[in-house]
Amino acid sequence: QTHGVAGKVILITGASSGIGEAAATLLAERGAKVVLGARRVERLERLTRQIRSAGGTAEYRKLDVTDHEDMEKFVRHAAETFGRVDVIVNNAGVMPLSNLQERKIDEWNRMIDVNIRGVLHGIAAGLPIMQRQRGGHFVNVASIGAYEVTPTASVYCATKYAVRAISDGLRMETDREIRVTLISPGVTESELADSISDEHARAAMREFRRVALPAQAIAEAIAYAVAQPEGVDVNELLVRPSKNA
Ligand code: NDP
Repeated sequence: QTHGVAGKVILITGASSGIGEAAATLLAERGAKVVLGARRVERLERLTRQIRSAGGTAEYRKLDVTDHEDMEKFVRHAAETFGRVDVIVNNAGVMPLSNLQERKIDEWNRMIDVNIRGVLHGIAAGLPIMQRQRGGHFVNVASIGAYEVTPTASVYCATKYAVRAISDGLRMETDREIRVTLISPGVTESELADSISDEHARAAMREFRRVALPAQAIAEAIAYAVAQPEGVDVNELLVRPSKNA
């Protein structure tokens, strides 16, 4: 069975859990060469072993997306190992929710650093290589929070609105040579809510997360966008859980 993802070199940030891990597994199953990045390197090592023992091709490298030099090294490592970079999935993200009046300034900054700067660092590192190749694809993971604001999520939504703005801008500025897909999940099973320190926001999120998508569903959305033939640029996908999830 041949799929549009087979043979592609696909870099995934935040591949140590949740959506990134599910995407790595699915894309590798379909014949992509995946390169995994995150800070918890023991998890990446384990996932790489699983993918390889299932017959797939995977590499990993420790990555902190907030450090742009580290991101350069991550992308260079992939290019040197596999000879090219077809897709970068900018997926790493954090979501420590709280009301603005709680003044959790360190958490605001962390969201800005990971969710916005992290995506920009991925673009900065990958774009020169993709432009030399005369083609490439960024898949940026945003959220339904890129379209609507909810209480406790002002800063988180702001970071995701930013990812949406950057994605549209990138598509225009590269004159459509580079494909850009924004993937916006609704509530999805993952470790994302673990980063919430605020009790009120944590309790609200526990209620909210009763109806959640499996991470696999978002992996499928990513795979769909990546599998399209050259010349087809899936701009945006919004995926929400239905009641029977
Ligand atoms: P997880 O918490 O399970 O995964 C987040 C990933 O990001 C982890 O692999 C983590 O790895 C990585 N990460 C965090 N900080 C950094 C950093 N500084 N450098 C490198 N990697 C980092 O959550 P999800 O799978 O849910 O999150 C993936 C994306 O999906 C995020 O962008 C999130 O905002 C988005 N999303 C999720 C939704 C949901 O309901 N789950 C809904 C909408 C959007 P490590 O800690 O090892 O570095």
